[in-house]
This record gives sequence, structure tokens and C-alpha cells, in this order.
Amino acid sequence: MSLAPDGHLLIIGAGLAGYYTARQMRTQGHTGPITILGAEEHPAYDRPALSKAYLCGTTDLCDLYLDDPSDPLDVRWVRSDAVIGLSTQPLGVQTASGTFYLGDAVVIATGAEARRLGGHAIRSVEDAAALRAAPLAGARVAVIGGGFLALETAATCTTRGAGSVTVIAGEELPGLRRLGQPVAQALHRLHQEHGVRFLGSARALSVNPVPAAADGCRSVRPQARQPAALQGSQAPGPHSITLSDGRSIEADVVISAVGAVPATGWLTRSAVALDPVTGAVLADDTGFTGIPGVWAAGDCALWAAQRTGLRPVGHWQETVDQAQAVASALLGGIPSPMQEPYLWSDQHHVTIQAAGMLALADEVKVLAGTIESGDLLVSYLRDGTEIGILGMNRLREVVRWRRSRRVRPAALAA
Ligand SMILES: Cc1cc2nc3c(=O)[nH]c(=O)nc-3n(C[C@H](O)[C@H](O)[C@H](O)COP(=O)(O)OP(=O)(O)OC[C@H]3O[C@@H](n4cnc5c(N)ncnc54)[C@H](O)[C@@H]3O)c2cc1C
Repeated sequence: MSLAPDGHLLIIGAGLAGYYTARQMRTQGHTGPITILGAEEHPAYDRPALSKAYLCGTTDLCDLYLDDPSDPLDVRWVRSDAVIGLSTQPLGVQTASGTFYLGDAVVIATGAEARRLGGHAIRSVEDAAALRAAPLAGARVAVIGGGFLALETAATCTTRGAGSVTVIAGEELPGLRRLGQPVAQALHRLHQEHGVRFLGSARALSVNPVPAAADGCRSVRPQARQPAALQGSQAPGPHSITLSDGRSIEADVVISAVGAVPATGWLTRSAVALDPVTGAVLADDTGFTGIPGVWAAGDCALWAAQRTGLRPVGHWQETVDQAQAVASALLGGIPSPMQEPYLWSDQHHVTIQAAGMLALADEVKVLAGTIESGDLLVSYLRDGTEIGILGMNRLREVVRWRRSRRVRPAALAA
């Protein structure tokens, strides 16, 4: 089932998963042709900075390119041509421009698309550029969502001089359900210290432009509940956000960071099995979809361990590890073991790093630091056994923990 050394690999999606799969294929010795097909017009770029340095204006798109000009990938890049269909016999893909590409194996790496509740979203560089260009200084900013992306964006908006930043996190404290009380309290405090306001457990139901009154002034009309608009960045002018507790708030800039959906619409009529809830491509823990020659990695995929909640979805390190595992499996080499899940986030002056199976924990214990000083080190346990760790500005401790849990490839461990 592995790819012959001269076999042609098609990679669909020129993002992190696509790039790293190709890079790993070359590192692990594949000499056959590789074609990477991407919908975007830009060279493959890294997304984490979009909500941080790029949004702040301290870095530009060219600084985010994944390929290294001093050691460029030996691949054929096809840009601005979205893949619209997968054929299994013969194996290949059809693009929007009408071209059919034949391959000996296909890696699906089309990532995800932002769920859009209204206002701005941040998934692509165009999304981030639109928000970067928005007049944030002095503006009333509302951020919908309580995940790391929402909190990072809120932090960046304060740095950009927003007049006020309100986060609609939909839970009493941001991150309470996922990270537990101490971390949620520390995050709440950190953001409040920088002027960010939270609206407790209220959820945003809809976002609507505030209509201009006949005399040219704008007035707030009572909002009828309506389905969330799914598309588009923010129209000019203030917007009103209707909340689940009956209130509504007005903001000049609205940002939705309410999750992402796998970009798999182009596969709905293919033989590939999609998760009925999320639409992600279902794969085993090597990325194999069950269809000969077809593999999947990154935010568009749901591997078996992710389905059971053992591993997280939608993080940078998870994507890179999956790309490496897919390349090893495609080449029939020693399976590359997945390491403990790892993620990070930068908010104000704090770097938050988490490693391990946090989602499975039934107990959270503070190991060091305080909520007030924002330097927490927290242990996550299940049935009394430590299964994860989270540090706020605790680089050394998290690195040490990850190192102690490192899984070596079977051949080296023997
Ligand atoms: C703003 C932002 C900040 C983040 N910050 C962090 C962070 O701090 N820490 C962390 O751990 N993770 C972070 N992440 C998550 C991390 O960046 C993602 O997990 C990672 O980008 C996933 O890579 P991917 O290749 O699967 O998807 P993507 O990076 O989305 O790439 C998919 C590519 O496929 C293309 N594509 C889609 N459909 C088609 C099609 N039909 N045909 C051809 N091409 C197609 C897309 O245009 C895109 O270029 C962040 C993500 C975002 C958006």
C-alpha cells in the first residue's frame, strides 16, 4: 500500500499539513514527483501569527511563508486553483480550472474554514488583513468566543489601542470547561488587568448592522432573533450583538472566533467517509482513509484517536505530527510515534503552553505560581495519575515534562 519511490504524490491544500507532508516525504527519501494544489494565491504560510504579530502590524505575510528559500521544497506548486472533486478510479483530482491531475497517492490537507457569526473572522491572511486595516484605535471592539483564538485577538486589539474590548465567551470564566477553574481564573484576571471586559455566560445569538436613522444618526433597533449570517467580513459601521440573556451590546468592530469547520465540502460526493457531525475526513491513526491511496492530515481530518477524544483537533503541533506520520506510512517506513499533544498561545505578555491529554482530566491541581501573578503551573490528572500539564510563562517546566514523555520510534527504543 505504500507509495513507490517514483510514485506521484498529490497533496490537496497548500497549508501547514500539505507543506509538512511534502517536506517529510523528501526528508524520508521520496524521489518521485510531488504536486501541491492550493486554493489560495499565496505561497504556503503559517497561520498562528495572524492573530498575534501580523494583526499587530509587526510582521508581514512574507515573514510567514513556510518554505525556506535557502532550501526550497522540490515540488510542483499549483496556486489559486481549488480542488473540486476526488476520483478513486483512476486516482486523481479535478480542479476548478478544469484540470484533472492523476496521482499514485493523494493526501487531503484542506484544513478548515472559520465559522462566521458576523463581523470579522480570522482564518486566512485576507481575514487578518481586513481586521488589521480596520480602525481599531479608540474603537469599541467585541470578540465573540472564549477559546485561545478569541483571547489572543482580544489581547492584540488592546495592544492596537482599542477604546474598549468586550469578550463574549459564553461561560462564566474563559476556558473554564476545557482548562479548569484555576487557569480560567488566571486568564480572566490577566485580560481584565489589560482592560478586557467579559460578559459571563451570555452567548452571542446574532450580529446585525445598526441601521442609520433618517437624520443620518444611527439608532439601535430591538433585535429580532435570526439565524447567524454565515458569510462575509464586517460591513462598515457599528453593529449590535444580541445576547442569549436578552441584552444587546453595540460595537464598532466585531470579531467572531467561534471555531472552524473542516474544508471538505468538495468531498461530499466522493467515496471518502466524512464524520457526520463535523464533516471531517475520517482516518485511522496513520491518516489512512480506508480508500487505497487516499490519506488525510491536519484540521480537515479526524483520526481515530481524535474521535475518541484522546487527542485534540485544530492545533499546529498536532498537524505537524500528523504530516510526519502520514509521510512515514506512505513510504512504508518505521511508523513515527505521535508525541503527547502540545499547544501554545500568546496573550498579552504571557505564553500559555499545554501538553498531554487535558480533555480527559477529572482533577486539576495547581503545582506552582498564583492566579494573581499569572505564572501558574497546573497539573491535570485522571484517576490520580498525571496526564497533562499547563504553564503560564513556564517554558522550562513544560519543556521538561514533554521531554520526559517523549516516545521514541520503535526501532530506536528497542
Ligand atoms: C489565526 C490562527 C491562529 C492560530 N494560532 C495557533 C497557536 O497559537 N497555537 C496552535 O497550536 N495552533 C494555532 N492555530 C492552529 C494551526 O494554525 C492550524 O492547526 C493549522 O494551520 C492547520 O493546518 P492545515 O494545513 O490543516 O490547515 P490550513 O492551515 O487551514 O491549510 C489548508 C489549506 O488548504 C487550502 N484549501 C482548502 N480547500 C481547498 C481545496 N478545495 N482545494 C485546494 N486547497 C484548498 C486552504 O486554502 C489552505 O491554504 C492557529 C490557527 C489560526 C487560524
